[in-house]
Amino acid sequence: MSSVSPIQIPRRLPLLLTNEGVLLPGSTMRTSVDSARNLQLVRSRLLKGTSLQSTILGVIPNTPDPASDAQDLPPLHRIGTAALAVQVVGSNWPKPHYTLLITGLCRFQIVQVLKEKPYPVAEVEQLDRLEEFPNTCKTREELGELSEQFYKYAVQILDAVSLEERFKMTIPLLVRQIEGLKLLQKTRKHKQDDDKRVIAIRPIRRITHIPGALEDDDEDEDNDDIVMLERKIRTSSMPEQAHKVCVKEIKRLKKMPQSMPEYALTRNYLELMVELPWNKSTTDRLDIRAARILLDNDHYAMEKLKKRVLEYLAVRQLKNNLKGPILCFVGPPGVGKTSVGRSVAKTLGREFHRIALGGVCDQSDIRGHRRTYVGSMPGRIINGLKTVGVNNPVFLLDEVDKLGKSLQGDPAAALLEVLDPEQNHNFTDHYLNVAFDLSQVLFIATANTTATIPPALLDRMEIIQVPGYTQEEKIEIAHRHLIPKQLEQHGLTPQQIQIPQVTTLDIITRYTREAGVRSLDRKFGAICRAVAVKVAEGQHKEAKLDHSDVAEGEGCREHILEDAKPESISDTPDLALPPEMPILIDFHALKDILGPPMYEMEVSERLSQPGVAIGLAWTPLGGEIMFVEASRMDGEGQLTLTGQLGDVMKESAHLAISWLRSNAKKYHLTNASGSFDLLDNTDIHLHFPAGAVTKDGPSAGVTIVTCLASLFSGRLVRSDVAMTGEITLRGLVLPVGGIKDKVLAAHRAGLKRVIIPQRNEKDLEEIPGNVRQDLSFVTASCLDEVLNAAFDGGFTVNTRPGLLNSKL
Ligand code: ADP
Repeated sequence: MSSVSPIQIPRRLPLLLTNEGVLLPGSTMRTSVDSARNLQLVRSRLLKGTSLQSTILGVIPNTPDPASDAQDLPPLHRIGTAALAVQVVGSNWPKPHYTLLITGLCRFQIVQVLKEKPYPVAEVEQLDRLEEFPNTCKTREELGELSEQFYKYAVQILDAVSLEERFKMTIPLLVRQIEGLKLLQKTRKHKQDDDKRVIAIRPIRRITHIPGALEDDDEDEDNDDIVMLERKIRTSSMPEQAHKVCVKEIKRLKKMPQSMPEYALTRNYLELMVELPWNKSTTDRLDIRAARILLDNDHYAMEKLKKRVLEYLAVRQLKNNLKGPILCFVGPPGVGKTSVGRSVAKTLGREFHRIALGGVCDQSDIRGHRRTYVGSMPGRIINGLKTVGVNNPVFLLDEVDKLGKSLQGDPAAALLEVLDPEQNHNFTDHYLNVAFDLSQVLFIATANTTATIPPALLDRMEIIQVPGYTQEEKIEIAHRHLIPKQLEQHGLTPQQIQIPQVTTLDIITRYTREAGVRSLDRKFGAICRAVAVKVAEGQHKEAKLDHSDVAEGEGCREHILEDAKPESISDTPDLALPPEMPILIDFHALKDILGPPMYEMEVSERLSQPGVAIGLAWTPLGGEIMFVEASRMDGEGQLTLTGQLGDVMKESAHLAISWLRSNAKKYHLTNASGSFDLLDNTDIHLHFPAGAVTKDGPSAGVTIVTCLASLFSGRLVRSDVAMTGEITLRGLVLPVGGIKDKVLAAHRAGLKRVIIPQRNEKDLEEIPGNVRQDLSFVTASCLDEVLNAAFDGGFTVNTRPGLLNSKL
């Protein structure tokens, strides 16, 4: 049924298989291209040639069949629509894809498929007359947005080549549309916002677009908005360059039909431009004395950090500018880094905004996407400014140590530009494309460790270490800050709930194992929720009981009698407590609410046989105690290491064994058959439990030696001692890092003696007094001293004559 048309479409058409609806002649739709076949087609047909012919595609509706192989060409619908590609927009996120804007020209029928790869090309026969190419701007894209439920219907309309048939198909749709519109008008008139009905009406309105009264309303609104936008641009205090761009863009916007995809893009852009705080700022108020009081009120302990922050603020005040290094708080999670950042903003009277950088690996996250991309948007800095609405907030760049890197550019480089006082008054976000002055923003960064902060960034920062807390500090923080805050958040008062300090200590030692107080805070949250339920239930019952006294004989009696029988209250005695009695959280209540304790003291149990020692490790989450276990078996002198170890740790293990072998005689260490050659017919297995965590670093050296010395001597290591230190082949003990966090971890675990390298003695000054009192420290410069301190009664031969091996 070919027809003679004034305009002939090519006889060979590349076929675009789309499963996003059916394109009808005269309508426009947007379709996403991400299959390999369609991507090929777009690349070779649309992005190369510029002539019109090369942009005519055959669009075939396709229902994806999950069972079929994506490589094979699916069975093709025989009738399709020749279409003009009006716009191609590409993006790489979340995966490479294009979005095409296509306008249907006329129907065609596939005569034969000429080739299938890399994309199908078919010989086609034109079915409709095509008088002229459509004015693409006028076409309505909504027509293309056919929802799934109308898919079948739309395909049938596509297949209806004769006019009569087509008319029959579309009349019911039009009737439905009219019904829908009537209903919609009625709904509006009666101002009933019954959601269900509105939802039922919307899809109908979308399918067939009858230009009419309703649409005019929308357009009027839009026009009003444009006028408003224009006024805002005129009155905005944005810099001249930005103003020029806005004027240009609004001129373009006014000429654009609203259906054009660019319309929304441009409008969003302009709305952001007028919203940005180009010239709006808060006035700094800084009184160092008040700042000190505020910092002290909000935070217990952390003296060093508070002191450093006050110095920083004082210098800023005197110099009256923000140039200088960026403060970076480094410490485990939950030690109050964010919270101090917030207080800094409060003392200055500035707005505060946190920008999470953990996992950011695309520089457009910082610097925005160019506006040509679909879904393009500004980066987090500009977004943050929009959120706070002023140009001099405190921005907390959270977790700078967790910035990633990817093919999409290095976010650290973008961040450098943001932080550099020489450049940041001219910061250009890709989306904005005009400079924004960031020089008034006060940046503070946080990190768990400096090891993974990109060196160039680290160079710009002044690092302030924020160590973990001791148990006593945690108890104070809990009772001064965490509990009152949680009570307030849950609408509870101290008259309703009481958490004694012993309970807090129980939570700290048996339900959490952390350097900071984040889990602790969450546990209080859980307790408050549980208590809130009880209190609310109690009030409910009491209210009903009160009513039942007076409501006798009244209309509501039935209800009261049914719900508030006195027996039902005595069934649950705790609910019958008089209201003035607070609910006391003791250990039983804890177990009820939080479940059985998660961490019981297991140290002495685990040290009940030879070949186990406790080391101290430093992790970005704070210090931790680390068990080292060793066993030996018949073999050929092999050393097996397990527990996710890094290379440095493996080397420490080899060093430890070599040292012990060369000192076996001195210490009378023997293998199972009594030989001083410790590896003779013997294999050793060293294990570092918590295998899911990667461990590395040299500081486990002394612990491995102690553990192996215990194994080969058959003696138990003292169960209350933990140690850290690097070793040399000659048996010297070298200093290591993270002493404070490690000592706090030993204290948390209830240990009593800590062996540290002698050259780390100066680090003990940082340990809080009460922790120092609870622990005894042994400083060692060689392994002899370590072993003497780790075993009851010492380890050297001279001091332990009774333990001489019988063979000697
Ligand atoms: P970070 O940023 O170090 O991970 P946060 O600042 O989010 O930790 O702190 C977690 C919670 O603990 C916050 O509610 C904070 O107020 C509280 N907190 C932490 N340290 C202290 C402290 N020294 N005094 C009072 N509250 C604290």
